[in-house]
Amino acid sequence: MRNYKFMAVENLSTRDKKYLWHPLTQHKLSKPQLPIVKAKGALLYDEDGNTYIDGIASWYTTMYGHGNEQIISAMTKQMQKLDFVMFSGLTHEPAIELSEQLMAILPENQAKIFFNDNGSTAIDAAIKMALQYFHNHGERRDTLIAFEDGFHGDTFGAMSASGLSSYNGPFEDFLLKVIRISIPKEHNLVSVKNKLKTILEENDCAAFIFEPLVQGAAGMKFHSAQGLDDLIQLCQSHDVLCIADEIMTGFGKTGMDFASENLLNKPDIICLSKALTAGMFPLSITSCSQKVYDRFLSDEVQKGFFHAHTFSAHPIGCAAALAGIALLNSPEIKERRAYIEKAHGRFSREIENHEKVGNVRVKGVILAIDLQLKIERYGNLRDELYRFFLERGVLLRPLGNTIYVLPPYVITNLQLQKIYDTITEVLNTF
Ligand SMILES: *Cc1c(COP(=O)(O)O)cnc(C)c1O
Repeated sequence: MRNYKFMAVENLSTRDKKYLWHPLTQHKLSKPQLPIVKAKGALLYDEDGNTYIDGIASWYTTMYGHGNEQIISAMTKQMQKLDFVMFSGLTHEPAIELSEQLMAILPENQAKIFFNDNGSTAIDAAIKMALQYFHNHGERRDTLIAFEDGFHGDTFGAMSASGLSSYNGPFEDFLLKVIRISIPKEHNLVSVKNKLKTILEENDCAAFIFEPLVQGAAGMKFHSAQGLDDLIQLCQSHDVLCIADEIMTGFGKTGMDFASENLLNKPDIICLSKALTAGMFPLSITSCSQKVYDRFLSDEVQKGFFHAHTFSAHPIGCAAALAGIALLNSPEIKERRAYIEKAHGRFSREIENHEKVGNVRVKGVILAIDLQLKIERYGNLRDELYRFFLERGVLLRPLGNTIYVLPPYVITNLQLQKIYDTITEVLNTF
C-alpha cells in the first residue's frame, strides 16, 4: 500500500513527476508541468492562485470560455437523463439532434454523420472510408495525397497523413503510402497543380486530405481558398475523395463557421472535433456526402463500415456540442468573433514593421506572427519564450518561431490587450 495521505501534502508538481508521462514532452529535459486547479472564461488558475490568460483556448477547444454555464447545464441535464449507451444497435436523441444541427451548418453536400471520440480517430475513420469506398467497388487505390507540413493527428492513419517530421521520425517505415504537395500560394499554383496532375495520373489515389485555409500545427500557415479549390477540383475530376480536416478550423476560427464555406468545390468528407464540444468532452465526427455513404450500402454485410469506438456519440459530448452550436452564432458570440478579428488586425498593423517581425497574418480569430529569430520547435529559446509569457500571466505555445493567438471568443478586451502587450514586450526583449 502506498501512503496516499503523505502524498496529498506534497504539491501537485511533485506528485505529477512520480507517475505521469506527458504528451509532447522530453521528461529528461523538461521543466515541471504547471498545475492548473481552476478555469473560468479565458482564465486559468494555478495552485498558488496565479492566473493565466488562455491565449490559445486550450488547443483551440474552449471557444465559449472555460466553465461556460450554459454548456455545463446542458451536460448536467443530459448526464442525469441518459449517461451513456453504446451506439451500435442503439440510438439516442442527443446524437440525432446533433446530426440535424450539424447538417444545418455544414456545407450542403454533407449528408451523413459518423461519430468518433477524438480528432485522430475522426481522421482514421475518414481515411478508412475513402479506402473502402474504392474497395467496395472492386478497385484498389492505395495512395493518399496530403500537404507538406500538414497535421492530422497521432494515430497511425492520421500520422501517415501528417507531414511534420518532428512527430513521425521513428514510424516512417510503418506508415500508409502518402504523396505530398506544397500548399498552394499565388507564386506556385501552376507548379503545384502540375505536380498534382502527375501524381493523379501515375498513382492509384484514394483521397486528398488537407487542413483547409490554415495549417494549425505547422505554425498557422495560410493558403488561398482559390488555390485549394483548384486542387480539389482536379482531385474530384479523378474521382479522388477530398477530406477536409476542419478539426482546428471548424466552428468559426477562420471567420466563417467552417473554412470549407470558402470553397466552391465542396469536400466529400469533413472531420470535426476540438471546438465541436467546446473543450468540455472528447468527441468527434466524420461527415460525408451521400455519394460516399451509398457505396457502403449493399446486400453483402461486409461492405458496411465496420469501424467503431466504444464512446462513439457519447450523449454527454453530444449535449455539449448542441449547447456549443447554439452559442456559435448567438449575437454575443458573433460580436466577440468580429471584435477579436478587428483587434487582431489593428495589432498586426502596429507591429508589422518591427525589426523582429517577419510575416504577420490574421484570419478570423487567428493571429500569427513569425519572429525574425532562429527558434527550434523544441529548443531552449522556444522554452524561454513560453516561460516569458507564463511569468506575465499569458499562456501561448510558440510553434517554432511562430507566435499565434487563438483566444476563446469570450476573452475580454482587456485580456486580449494584455496578450498584445506581452507580445510587444517579447519583441522588445528577445
Ligand atoms: C488537433 C488536431 C488533430 C488531432 O486531434 P486529436 O484530438 O488531438 O487526436 C487533427 N487535425 C488537426 C487539424 C488538429 O488540429
